[in-house]
Amino acid sequence: MDVVTLGETMMLFTPDNPGPMRYADRFSNRVAGAESNVAIGLARLGFQSGWISRLGDDEFGKKINAFIRGEGVDTSQVILDETADTGLFFKEKLAPGEWRVKYYRQGSAASRLKPGDVDESYIAEANYLHVTGITPALSDSCYETVLTAIDYARAHGVNVVFDPNLRRKLWPDHKARKVLTELVQKADIVLPGIEEAEFLFGNGTPEELARTFREKGASTVILKLGGTGAYYLNNAAEGYAEGFEVPEVVDPVGAGDGFSAGVLSGLLDGLDMKDAVQRGNAVGAMVVMAPGDVEGLPEKDRLVDFITNRNQSDV
Ligand code: ATP
Repeated sequence: MDVVTLGETMMLFTPDNPGPMRYADRFSNRVAGAESNVAIGLARLGFQSGWISRLGDDEFGKKINAFIRGEGVDTSQVILDETADTGLFFKEKLAPGEWRVKYYRQGSAASRLKPGDVDESYIAEANYLHVTGITPALSDSCYETVLTAIDYARAHGVNVVFDPNLRRKLWPDHKARKVLTELVQKADIVLPGIEEAEFLFGNGTPEELARTFREKGASTVILKLGGTGAYYLNNAAEGYAEGFEVPEVVDPVGAGDGFSAGVLSGLLDGLDMKDAVQRGNAVGAMVVMAPGDVEGLPEKDRLVDFITNRNQSDV
């Protein structure tokens, strides 16, 4: 595998009409999970990606498994759990731009992931292990599973990529801060959003915050700055990579996951850090122009075409 990732994917239900969900009688549903989005993004760009998880052995679990496998991701490490359900969540549109999320994931199959579910050789043979800060928030055994996967990666010289993906609904701030900082220390590449960086280390410029991440132990930090692009810092390189202008933001969700897939694809192709981050910016921009998390993820030729033909905005 080029990239192996690990985490929970759920069914997302969105009422077709805005307003409180108690009045909703029609819902659209989609497959939603940060880590599987990254795996799908990489598969679409022509790389081999694998996703480790647990799903309920139920209709939604089968649907999610088939969907992700159908996108070209290796799901050989996914366990269909007969004793727990697939997690669900709902997203109500209360008013324009105002969303409310309600999870039904407590005790879900994925929250039962345990260290024994991770095959050391599967990680050892990958180029990158990608993990997020969502998984350790799900349960103690999920936290242990993430640590185990990282230990395997480090033992075999596999680069660890960490996206903090802060979800404040899942755990108290003090615990999130402690665990996310611990994972920053163990990662080779950290991909925080600017707000997550400030949550962890207080206010600062991108340069200051990136330096703090490096002091905590991450070798490479790439700070995502929304439409303006990203700032990167490591031993060898530093700078801003400008974002791409988009005519309309149709759906901002999933931009960060697309960004991760873009950066990793660039590094796997041997691009330097600036060009890899630029690729992340391009995939992020393409994702926000389409509805859903994965619909906008490009194939390689479309990505190259987008980067070549779009004017970049001024930072
Ligand atoms: P997510 O909502 O997926 O968690 P995030 O907070 O992790 O996102 P963002 O900074 O919102 O990350 O977006 C990631 C990347 O996607 C940005 O660095 C940028 O490259 C691209 N991007 C996001 N929003 C826009 C936009 N409006 N226009 C162009 N590019 C964008």
